[in-house]
Amino acid sequence: MQTKISSVADAKRRVYNFAPGPAMVPSEVMAAAHEEFFDWQGTGVSVMEISHRSDEFMALAAESEADLRALLAIPDNYRVFFLPGGATSQFAMVPLNLLAPQASADYLHTGTWSDKAINEARRYGTVNLATVLDEASPLSIPPPESWTLSPDAVYVYYTDNETIHGVEFPECPAVGEVALVSDMTSSLLSKALDVSRYGVIFAGTQKNIGVAGLVIVIVREDMLGRARAGTPSMYDYAVHAEYRSMFNTPPVYAWYLASKVLAWTRAAGGVMAMDARARRRSDALYQVIDASDLYMNHVAPRYRSRMNVTFTLADERLIAPFLRAAQAAGLVALRGHRIVGGLRASLYNAMPMAGVDALVAFMQDFEHNHR
Ligand SMILES: *Cc1c(COP(=O)(O)O)cnc(C)c1O
Repeated sequence: MQTKISSVADAKRRVYNFAPGPAMVPSEVMAAAHEEFFDWQGTGVSVMEISHRSDEFMALAAESEADLRALLAIPDNYRVFFLPGGATSQFAMVPLNLLAPQASADYLHTGTWSDKAINEARRYGTVNLATVLDEASPLSIPPPESWTLSPDAVYVYYTDNETIHGVEFPECPAVGEVALVSDMTSSLLSKALDVSRYGVIFAGTQKNIGVAGLVIVIVREDMLGRARAGTPSMYDYAVHAEYRSMFNTPPVYAWYLASKVLAWTRAAGGVMAMDARARRRSDALYQVIDASDLYMNHVAPRYRSRMNVTFTLADERLIAPFLRAAQAAGLVALRGHRIVGGLRASLYNAMPMAGVDALVAFMQDFEHNHR
């Protein structure tokens, strides 16, 4: 089993990796990073050994921001940060910057990742749970008409794609004029967005944009300068705006890989092309699941994720043999998250259709052999 990768001697050992994150990186990006590992742009050193303030790295920083802005049509009144700490740091950074101690914010609870963000925000202010995932089968996000939004909420927070449950918002939630804040860790760059609807968008980069350790944060300018007294400098958006993501040493290698993935995404046709590919991949898998007596998915079709296809087997004793046989066929990391169990195929932007075709063929064979 092999994905397209040039110049790497052991590329033949590559398998189709359905990991939820850290996840597969486009093979072209891996090959380019491999190629220039010891000598980046003729500097004679690796990009990880060079000053983040060098002309070369500053050019990379500017280019990655320009690529992100072009991909998402980010308006001029937004700032873009590349920060350490991953997506989880934003669970605290959002309330520290936006939620004054007496203020309240609305949170949409749609799964494990919103749960974590809610628990963190509660340490800083009042959290109003405007809705909670309906855990009845099929799993669904209650309709907007049923949400209990509060008139004085300073923002409405939601998790665009719940990576563990395989539940995705089919569109930007309708909440009126209030600023939206969204964790888009597992969906950013996989579809078009109207950024102007948002106060803050953030995404850890280890799903669609590269490797772990870096978070991209897109912040509307009126969200800056509002951090509560006592906020650590590293957690203050205004500090990162002033220092252009270089208040401390940024995670340069993760940023470098993100810059390559951003360029790759543009070259591959941008977010509309990514959306079309994501739909093709996930539709193919949901079709096999829906047509089968063995595989089951518990999410209402309207809320099914294009990125993380969760499923289980009618006979759960077959899960372990399924995983063993898949592994032997070069299809790895299909185990579901321990919270929900079952199986999960994560299909981020870097997953080629050939990987999904191989998984589909495997699943059909497996079902055939276990009738
Ligand atoms: C993976 C993930 C996170 C956690 O990211 P870290 O970089 O580990 O902090 C947060 N939110 C969502 C939606 C995720 O998928």
